[in-house]
Amino acid sequence: MANKDLFGQQVDPTEDPSLSPWERIHALIPDDNPIKDLTTLDEVEAYVNDTVLIPLDEHRINAVFGVGDPHADLVVIGEAPGADEDRTGEPFTGRAGQLLNKILKAINFEREEVYITNILKSRPPNNRDPLAAEVEAHIPILYKQLTLIKPKIILAVGKTAGNSLLGRKSSLGSLRDKFHDYYGVPLMVTYHPAALLRNEQWKRPTWEDMKLLRTRYDKLVNN
Ligand code: URA
Repeated sequence: MANKDLFGQQVDPTEDPSLSPWERIHALIPDDNPIKDLTTLDEVEAYVNDTVLIPLDEHRINAVFGVGDPHADLVVIGEAPGADEDRTGEPFTGRAGQLLNKILKAINFEREEVYITNILKSRPPNNRDPLAAEVEAHIPILYKQLTLIKPKIILAVGKTAGNSLLGRKSSLGSLRDKFHDYYGVPLMVTYHPAALLRNEQWKRPTWEDMKLLRTRYDKLVNN
């Protein structure tokens, strides 16, 4: 019986293996959230631009929604916009963004062929870590983006992005070097490019993670 367990109990749709990853991720969006009924990325972007969900949204220069191929097989998720991104309205345009482009290029991806976004769509002051309430208010936007883009694989850069997606409070060291099952989509978590700018020694493990990502991507996309 669909959506019922052995004992006739309703199965949580986010945990229901008979549903597609997109149905499972969509079920994470609260039913009373206006995002739930939107059907295109353009509609969601317009809603984000026009809506104040948290105080950060009032103080931004630009909302930073996401860029890239709306049908990308790989979605890259960072933490939150910084000053450059707030100014341009585009994710990963500053120094960390230049390094992200290089990392992607090292495994033969052009920035334009993936989709790049963040957990938060507005810049936190002085680039502080996002607050739990800010993540809770903005993450449904990301859920919607994922259900519309339908990537085959996801890369989260940094501990905040990885933990926000997985509902954990883990160290980056324990999150990386493996694929997590994100509602049926393989999710890799690796170091944030801004952290790599400060800590050269994390470049090698990041390279190892990126090779794993490329291999898995090729298997998924070519099958
Ligand atoms: N850091 C992020 O996590 N995201 C950006 O868009 C820029 C810097």
